[in-house]
Amino acid sequence: MAKSSVDLICSVAELAGLFEKGHGLESFLQKVVSVIAWHMKAAVCSVYMFDEEKQEVVLTANQGLNPGAIGKLRLKLGEGIVGRSLLELRPIMEGTSRNNPYFKYIPGIGEENYQAFLAVPILRGLTRVGVLAVQDPAFDYFDDNDAKALRAIATQLAGTIESAKLLMSLHGREEHSHVVPESMPVDIKFLHGTPGSSGTALGGSIVFDDELLDVSVEENLPAVSIDDFNKALDTTEEQLKKFQLDMEERLADIASLIFSAHLLILRDTEFSGAMLKLVEQGVHPAVAVSRVVEDFCRMFANSENTRLQEKVHDVRDLGSRILRNLTRVDRAMPDFSGSIIIAESLLPSDLVRMSAQKVGGIVLVSGGATAHLSILARSLDLPMIIVHDKRLLKLPANTPLIVDSEQGALFIRPDAEVVRNFELLQETKKKAAEIESTINPETCTSDGTVIRLLANINLLSDLDVAKRLKAEGIGLYRSEFPFVVRNDFPSEEEQYRVYKKLADGMPGREVVFRTLDIGGDKMLSYFQTGNEANPFLGLRAIRLSLRYRNIFAPQIRALLRAGVGGELRIMFPFVSSVDDFIEARDFVRECIVQLGHENIPHNNTPLFGIMVELPAAVEIIEELAYEVDFMSIGSNDLVQYILAVDRTNEKIADLYMPHHPAVLRSLKKIADAAQKFKKHLSICGDIASSKVMLPFLLGIGIKTLSVDIRRLAQVQQIVASIDITQARANAMAMLQCSRISEINALLETEKSKT
Ligand code: PEP
Ligand code: MG
Repeated sequence: MAKSSVDLICSVAELAGLFEKGHGLESFLQKVVSVIAWHMKAAVCSVYMFDEEKQEVVLTANQGLNPGAIGKLRLKLGEGIVGRSLLELRPIMEGTSRNNPYFKYIPGIGEENYQAFLAVPILRGLTRVGVLAVQDPAFDYFDDNDAKALRAIATQLAGTIESAKLLMSLHGREEHSHVVPESMPVDIKFLHGTPGSSGTALGGSIVFDDELLDVSVEENLPAVSIDDFNKALDTTEEQLKKFQLDMEERLADIASLIFSAHLLILRDTEFSGAMLKLVEQGVHPAVAVSRVVEDFCRMFANSENTRLQEKVHDVRDLGSRILRNLTRVDRAMPDFSGSIIIAESLLPSDLVRMSAQKVGGIVLVSGGATAHLSILARSLDLPMIIVHDKRLLKLPANTPLIVDSEQGALFIRPDAEVVRNFELLQETKKKAAEIESTINPETCTSDGTVIRLLANINLLSDLDVAKRLKAEGIGLYRSEFPFVVRNDFPSEEEQYRVYKKLADGMPGREVVFRTLDIGGDKMLSYFQTGNEANPFLGLRAIRLSLRYRNIFAPQIRALLRAGVGGELRIMFPFVSSVDDFIEARDFVRECIVQLGHENIPHNNTPLFGIMVELPAAVEIIEELAYEVDFMSIGSNDLVQYILAVDRTNEKIADLYMPHHPAVLRSLKKIADAAQKFKKHLSICGDIASSKVMLPFLLGIGIKTLSVDIRRLAQVQQIVASIDITQARANAMAMLQCSRISEINALLETEKSKT
């Protein structure tokens, strides 16, 4: 029978009418695929719906493939012919699908015997709705007329699907109710994710939500006296103090005050005092605890102040603890050690607390980890992965999970084979750790050019690792970390103690202290500067320090005091003009004068440096190089701002290209300026540990690298494989390229040689 496109379009139009008479979307789409398959004489017809939140297409209706794949088969935008058609908003027709570079074979769905493939995006304007696809075993089965017909149907479908979604939202139904069921189906074994902090972990799941911190109490409570109540408060206080002490041993710089909020609230008359009043009125102590905790939570949750809103977790945690100590029922937070925590979002302080409780790994199910939550997780050695799938929040407690954030993989109820692979991976890691122990104090290219290898650190605890791995110094200390994870500003004294430990920890070696880089995605919950529409372009880093001198002064004074008797290097982030730099340097000089008047020992002659991370700084790099003592390239931000690509936005991660010609030329300009003015230059952004970018960086004359402590050994090995003459020639060739594709080709050629 010949294919009948006109009939087909008419039939689909009729079906659309049927839908409007009250049929559900899925059954409507199922009828559509049958009608299309029938009229086109195609063996397979499918509709994939676009899941915008996850940026994936989901097989929603199908005829001809394994019916079990409906609702389960998911492809990333750009993945496979279907995903590619939707990404590029164009039909893709292939006589033999396997010849198409984007073809992706998916085992188990029964598409082995199909050759011809035609996929057409379903669009509403430029908005992605889904993909309509047909397949057939005959080679070259579809032609241009089929493509035209399918496009016409796709247009028709887009309107109908949109009305369906509107109707569903009016009736309060979930758009993709069949696609995103409430709980995780047991047959889902694997989910893709985005790495947040590398590492692997095997453990039972714990969903971190309000239920976990439930403070409701049952009826028929055992009798307890006022004495018991007071004892429970004392025990709670002791426990918290012990917790705090344990943490201080492990994480001296950030531990203090993590539990101080608990301690303060515990002894507050409005809190334990209010409980006591109720108890004296004859209310059962457990009921009194529960009532007051709920009142506090309501009050905090309704507060306009985000700092107070964040306290809800603290209060619930505290309430659960008191109840456990009072009733002896194990009802407080479960033992987190070795578990994999699943959460919608986490605060930095949650992460620190979880690390103290020796959590195995973290799975975040929505949003994204801010760049700095990921950095913090790395410093705490906590594997973390972001998997956009809220069904994970419904996983029963203690479901076995494997987090492999290096591969971006989450295994649910892994079978024996997966567990064996996990164990093998652990073995390989052990071996990698052994390689770390062979790290040399000196790093050289294959031709003997000496490269200085420094470490980036965020917490005091990173310092020991840096020393163990023979880092030649600290090229970047991100001083904002202790600020980010606390409940309020550390005092000058507290900062002094941290900076002193750092300065003393690397005697005779370079330690670069970067002043606060707050703002952007590193907001302090306890310090509000007002809402900003574009925080990455807002009151960030040195701008904030210069605006709020009362925050800047204690930091600078603490640094000057800690730098007594040694070389002190102070680096300002986010400098956009010579004026910014001079204003910040003048402020440090004022602090020096002030400390002198106060007779407080301090360093009189610090060296002043800047992070080069803004396009504006590149434009005026010679003037900046003339003024400063040293410079460090913050390529993480530099790439973001040159290309206008948010470094935390997964949707445009493919546009974040350190090898873009504009970035390469900027890097060269910075290296040239440093050479011309004989100023020390390093690079501390992530590209300093990139195998692809390192030859270019060395090729343009950068000789100091500052990298994440976990990359030191690897970077030393990569550097040892680079020939500097060759690297120079390649870098020059890359700089001649005007197109990204040409640079890609050069990089590919280089890769194939290694
Ligand atoms: C950078 O921007 O490259 C950098 C090292 O700083 P941060 O990642 O802290 O912004
Ligand atoms: Mg930066």
